[in-house]
Parts: sequence; C-alpha cells; structure tokens
Amino acid sequence: AKFLGYEISVRKDYTTQKNARGETRRHRNGNVILHVSREVIKKKLLSLEAMNVKTRNGKEVWSSKGRTYLIDNEPQDIVARFNTEIRGFYNYYSIANNASALGRSFGCIMRFSMLKTFAQKLNSSVRTITNKYREDDKFVVWYTDKKGERKPRVFYNEGFKRITDLGTQKCDNLPYLFNTPSMSLVERLTANKCELCGKEGNVVSHHVRKLSELRGKTGWERKMLKMHRKSLIVCAECHNMIHAENS
Ligand SMILES: [Zn+2]
Ligand SMILES: [Zn+2]
Repeated sequence: AKFLGYEISVRKDYTTQKNARGETRRHRNGNVILHVSREVIKKKLLSLEAMNVKTRNGKEVWSSKGRTYLIDNEPQDIVARFNTEIRGFYNYYSIANNASALGRSFGCIMRFSMLKTFAQKLNSSVRTITNKYREDDKFVVWYTDKKGERKPRVFYNEGFKRITDLGTQKCDNLPYLFNTPSMSLVERLTANKCELCGKEGNVVSHHVRKLSELRGKTGWERKMLKMHRKSLIVCAECHNMIHAENS
C-alpha cells in the first residue's frame, strides 16, 4: 500500500528479541516496513531542477546540475534555500527504513547541485568553490546581516540517519504523525476505507498527540474518542474538513 509517499509493507518474518527484563518479545518495529522509492526522490530532485536524468547503456543515470534560476540570489540565501529543502525532505522521510540510503543519494545530488549553482553564479568551478568555502568538513558562507554583523551560513551537514524515536507534535505535521506505526494502524490504512464517511479509495491518517486534547465537539473528535485511537483513517475530503474545523 502507498501512504504519504511511503511504500508500506509488512515483514513476514517475526523476529523476536529479548527486552531489558529478559523476556522474549516480538521486535517492536519488526513488522512494518516503510520504504521510500527511488521514484519519489527522482520526482523531488527533478521538480527542484537539481538534476538531469540520462539513460546510458539502458541504465538510468542521475547527475546533479546547477539551478540557474537561483543564481541571482545572495550566496547565503542560496545555501539557506538548499538547507530548507534538504531538511524538509529529510524530515518527511527520516522514519523510512531506507532513510540513510535515501539521504545518501538525495543529499549527494543536492550538495553538488549547490556547488554547481555557486560555480555558475561566480563563473567558477566546483573545485574552486569547494576550496573557497570549505571550513574543516563544512561548507560555510560568511555574510553580513542587516544589523551589520558577520554571520556564518553552513550548508546542511546533519546527516541522514533513520529516525526511530520521534518527538511529539501536536497534529499531523508530517511525518511526525506516527511514532512507530502499529500493525493495526497499517491494517486500517491498507483497508483503504474512510473511517468517517465510509468512502473507499485513497486514505490518509489524521493524528492527534493526545486523546485528552479532543473535546468531542465535532463528529470526528467523537469518533476518535469512541474508538479510543489517536489516529483516524480518512479520505481527502474528510481530512480537509477536519483541518478546516481545527483551525
Ligand atoms: Zn471520508
Ligand atoms: Zn490531519
């Protein structure tokens, strides 16, 4: 099943592990696999115009390219924009089982796209740009802010580790919507049926942090309270309605 750009599947083997008390438990996250496909990464990079795709000997080859439409921006603003885009994408997919592989390809293309954008802007080469802005293993642009202070802008270097333990967020600001997706949540998602209006088709999951936040004022709140679930599987229309009522 597809869910928010993830391919969700269920792992067939039921590996167990011992917990702190020495009891055998099914691995906490062993059943549900979230996978981000190459197509998702490809689409994103193409939409940013950060890469070219060519076919060589029947094989698809990705190569980074400079984003010409950014070269009139200030260097620090170009870095800020890349950082925001990289963080946004990584935040979204950081809980995927293949998050680090995804980060490697996405991050690598973005890094070289940034270097090539700088090279275009400054009429220079990637090598010269790298040497010019390198500080230790970081890429740093120094600039003067509006108050006249010298500030460093550092290109994203926080890595792409898979996040398995998430903080909490109030509502479904993706992807923090699920800590560890449970089997029952996946089963409800793959049923492809809106739990509010009953319509069959594409569904999304609406989440709240705590049930105690719900006042039972609306139909969906009452439904969640009755089900005693922090997630509700809904169709797009119902989800829009929920967020309209929520704001
Ligand atoms: Zn619905
Ligand atoms: Zn929602």
